[in-house]
This record gives sequence, C-alpha cells and structure tokens, in this order.
Amino acid sequence: MRCPHCQEMEDKVIESRTLADGTAIRRRRECLSCGYRYTSYERVEERPLMVIKTTGAREPFDRNKLERGVVQAVRKRPISQLQIEEIINGVEDRATVLAKTTHEIASHQLGEMLLEALYDLDRVAYVRFASVYRNFTNVEEFVQEIERLKKANLARE
Ligand SMILES: [Zn+2]
Repeated sequence: MRCPHCQEMEDKVIESRTLADGTAIRRRRECLSCGYRYTSYERVEERPLMVIKTTGAREPFDRNKLERGVVQAVRKRPISQLQIEEIINGVEDRATVLAKTTHEIASHQLGEMLLEALYDLDRVAYVRFASVYRNFTNVEEFVQEIERLKKANLARE
C-alpha cells in the first residue's frame, strides 16, 4: 500500500486482526521507507467510516485526531506509545463494528469509548480527557466528576 506519509509502496504488515463481527480485517502496516505506521481495513464493501459531529456535520474518521487527544491526556504519565496505540485500535475496532450498516458514528460515542479506555488505563489521564471532552465549565462540575469517580472506585473495591 502507498504510505500516506512518504508515498512509498513498500510496507510490512505488523498486525492483522479480524474484527469481532467478522466483517472486516484490520491491518497495521509500517512503511519500510520511513517507518510511518498506518491502518488499513479490508472489508466486503469499502466505505469510509464517517463521524457525525454535534453540529450534525460529517467528517471522515480520523485516527490521528483521536491520538492527539489521548497524547495530550497522558502527557507526563507512565503510558507508552504502544498503550496509546492499543487504545486507539480498540476504539477504532469498536466504532467499525458499531457502524457496520450505517458507516457512521457519533463523535460523542467515540468520546465515551476513549473515556472508558482511559478510565481503565490511568485515572489522571481520564480526568484530564474528561475535563476537556465534557467541557467542564465550572469547578463544581469537575468536583462532581471526581466524586463520581471515587464512588465508582469504592464500588469496584
Ligand atoms: Zn513512508
């Protein structure tokens, strides 16, 4: 496949995975020329996954956009690039399965999936992401979220 970064044609597949519902195979590829990693999907009918924004506008699913949000949330946390990639892979897989008939997914669904994944990975990153994503407008909202987290923690323990 042509590398989206340097346009070279040589790549190697570093991971292949059949999605849960069997409708698509996801391949992680690495460009042999520049090392850039990207994802390709193989499915019966190729239609791009579209994201419905809160305004109702559609835009193509952008993995890099998700990644930027996660990278920001995990800044200075003990989280590896691989863990970030796994989160994005998980969200992309779930979104692809959910959107299999419509090829559309709401941006808030993506946000909630990321929140879930971050919650399991790192609570600091979770709160950071939640504060940006949920757009806390005041301190009370933020405190409520922390309280909610604490309760959820107690319930788990
Ligand atoms: Zn390349």
